[in-house]
Amino acid sequence: MKPAIPSEADLAVIGGGINGAGVAALAARAGLKVVLFEKGDFASGTSSRSTKLIHGGIRYLEQFRFPLVFESLRERRRLLDQAPHLVRPLPFLLPSYREDERPAWMLRLGMTFYDLLAGRSNIHRHRWLDAPQALALAPSLKPDGLRGCGLYYDGQVNDARLVLEDILAAESQGATCLNDSPVDRVDSRADGGMDVHYRHLPSGSSGAIRVRCLANTTGPWANQVSRMIVKEHRDLVRPTRGSHIVLPQLMGSHAVLVMSKRDRRIFFVIPWRGYSLVGTTDLDDAGDPDRTCPTEEEIGYLLEESSRVFPGATWGREKVVAAFSGLRPLAWAEGGHASSVSREDRILREGPVLTVLGGKLTTYRSMARKALRAAESVLGVPFHSIPFPDLPGAPSIPWQAFLVTKIPAWAREFGLPPGQAAHLALMYGERTPRVLALMRDDPSLKTPLHPERPETLAQVAFAVREEKALHLSDVMLRRLEIGYSTQRTGEADEKASRLMAHLLGWDEKKRLEELADYRGQLFPKSA
Ligand code: FAD
Repeated sequence: MKPAIPSEADLAVIGGGINGAGVAALAARAGLKVVLFEKGDFASGTSSRSTKLIHGGIRYLEQFRFPLVFESLRERRRLLDQAPHLVRPLPFLLPSYREDERPAWMLRLGMTFYDLLAGRSNIHRHRWLDAPQALALAPSLKPDGLRGCGLYYDGQVNDARLVLEDILAAESQGATCLNDSPVDRVDSRADGGMDVHYRHLPSGSSGAIRVRCLANTTGPWANQVSRMIVKEHRDLVRPTRGSHIVLPQLMGSHAVLVMSKRDRRIFFVIPWRGYSLVGTTDLDDAGDPDRTCPTEEEIGYLLEESSRVFPGATWGREKVVAAFSGLRPLAWAEGGHASSVSREDRILREGPVLTVLGGKLTTYRSMARKALRAAESVLGVPFHSIPFPDLPGAPSIPWQAFLVTKIPAWAREFGLPPGQAAHLALMYGERTPRVLALMRDDPSLKTPLHPERPETLAQVAFAVREEKALHLSDVMLRRLEIGYSTQRTGEADEKASRLMAHLLGWDEKKRLEELADYRGQLFPKSA
């Protein structure tokens, strides 16, 4: 069925990652008529393949990128306050070994500076732990040569759901946000505006929309979209690939910042959904962004370097539960190693066309504001003090009060074990009762997708009915993230696909195609 797509709008946003979602949400909140086109699923590009941190970026301090760190720390505080159901404080250990090139005093100085830059928006001040204290917290760390560990805090986010909630927030302000809707062509008009030609794949239809302004928020695809708009095209983005592997849990509740021996890079081992997320790498990648995936070399590097710090993890390739890559959409810079390319955001405006490059998930709101401010003369709206719309799951009361009052109340009201109510509340925030209502109306939806997992059929139904999921992969990889667990195929995807077939009217052929398409996206294939 084709949704009502307007034929005219103030702003077309191409790309439904975090930057497109942020721009659409703020522009719609300002009262503009906004249409967002995403060629696949929301967050299916880089924005669901991040390290899942809302952070200042402590490692950027040694590159003297202080303004970036300062801005990111300020944004970190805002997101912790405004989206506590999606962004939560995460303690980090920063180990110092005798053989490390960076001496312990340098790490301590870096953390002190990080605290100072955070100022009043800090989570907690850092502490220095001696080796026995560090090993008591993290017994799986290599003890030999350990001088001590810094303990500091950053934020952890559900990246795909942050994008989704911004999309829903944009829609709550009147925007139209379409997934499975690629833009194929953009024509300039004599009146200074543009015609944006799109396809709407779910209905098999296509059309054009006349707009005053266009935001190219296609991240790693920015060069391709720019080529549709300007005749004399130059490269705008320099995509660099970052890969992660998912391993059995190496640590308890702390993340660890690891210094690689091979190339002195810093990477993370992060507790994530009962596993450890290890990454990332940083390599130029001029290939097709639709096909990016980790190489064997990258997987080997991450396995080798993590086993240096976690000696119990001298594992082979067979222990890798899942792996994924994303492309950083860094503003074009000639030459130099990928790691040396600036992470700063860059907003380009040429007439009515905005392009958003670089930056981080953490800073998406300030990037959206900068982008729209750059187009104020075209859009005729001052964006300086327009607030972002509330995210739909944002708690209406302080987070601690939400946890201690709402979760037990919902568990009682809907007759669920408190653990299951908590699992839902930590994912959906204030939207939880809507998932619970589905279970109450149809108790068969309480069935878990897998006996070892908390996710239920009700969440699949919710993803289809209220979260714009169109494909099995949308549900498994981004709405619920089961696609990164050992239960990613078999019982769970069978059950989810059968329910989706029922809800979306798929015949058996289409259901099997969806299963094959989802499984084809998993990496490594053998897991
Ligand atoms: P994307 O998320 O890639 O979105 C672009 C969208 O445009 C895609 O969904 C694509 O399908 C769509 N699109 C493309 N062409 C078209 C078309 N023709 N029509 C319609 N739609 C189209 N930042 C942090 O703050 N914290 C982190 O921990 C962190 N970790 C990272 C780890 C890695 C490995 C990488 C690569 C980046 C990380 N970042 C992190 C940075 C952050 O993830 C990115 O800056 C951000 O996600 C980029 O978002 P985007 O919206 O610009 O691009």
